[in-house]
Amino acid sequence: MTDQQVVTRFAPSPTGYLHIGGARTALFNWLYARGRGGKFLLRIEDTDRARSTPEATQAILDGMSWLRLDHDGDVISQFERANRHAEVAHQMLDAGHAYKCFSTQEEIAAFREQARAEGRSTLFQSPWRDADPSTFPDAPYVIRLKAPRDGETVIEDQVQGAVTWKNDQLDDMICLRSDGTPTYMLAVVVDDHDMGVTHVIRGDDHLANAARQILVYNAMGWDVPVFAHIPLIHGPDGKKLSKRHGALGVEEYRAMGYPVEGMRNYLTRLGWSHGDDEVFTTEQALEWFGFDGIGKSPARFDFKKLENICGQH
Ligand code: GLU
Repeated sequence: MTDQQVVTRFAPSPTGYLHIGGARTALFNWLYARGRGGKFLLRIEDTDRARSTPEATQAILDGMSWLRLDHDGDVISQFERANRHAEVAHQMLDAGHAYKCFSTQEEIAAFREQARAEGRSTLFQSPWRDADPSTFPDAPYVIRLKAPRDGETVIEDQVQGAVTWKNDQLDDMICLRSDGTPTYMLAVVVDDHDMGVTHVIRGDDHLANAARQILVYNAMGWDVPVFAHIPLIHGPDGKKLSKRHGALGVEEYRAMGYPVEGMRNYLTRLGWSHGDDEVFTTEQALEWFGFDGIGKSPARFDFKKLENICGQH
């Protein structure tokens, strides 16, 4: 993988404005790719039709354009790729890496209740996993991935180090719902593979998802990308950054007249460092940026520092 061209992506869900955390993720992906002559792609994860809006997509595009985070190629809509996601689910089914599960919500709830009462793991174990197709009812089904029951799945994360999951902690996740639509977990892997993404850089709230996603890569025989899960941003009080800490949307900083270079500099410093350097140019950031400078603990959003850095641009 070393002499391969680097391909990164930003994959926001268009459910609101572009916030500081999302902008930082986009910037890290942009810096990593652009600093290595690679490609930076943009995929809008609009599979959740109830929560995705065109206004939010526009706000993300506007924020990225203000921050000069230019992407290669067309903006990809995840929703428009639903047929391809279904195709992959069926390929896994045909290859025996997935199965049709006819269990109803009531049956799954009853399974969990009984497991709880008996003090067993409540991870659903479908009775259809190894069922004979001649016993299949004429009823709706979902397609579940056959997760290995033994052994471990290890993520060699560039920020977090090796993170190990016991496979018996990973359930047979649903890949295709009974209405034929893909789950996020399947869609993200198929898209990253098809887009040729080599490095997945995103918030560490997705770390647990990565273990499940690796199972899909393995089932399809695809190369697993390099993962780098960045600690989330906290407010000055050490709690998860939220509205009560002040402005969260990139748009608000733009409206307040913050300089783009200063904003980029500050966002780059949010969770990444290069010695004692606080104020630097984009050219320097492109030269210096790498995973070894990303801290393992959450960065703290600090308005004074933002003001100070912006004042020097
Ligand atoms: N769409 C996800 C989000 O906005 C990101 C998924 C990913 O980067 O893999 O949190």
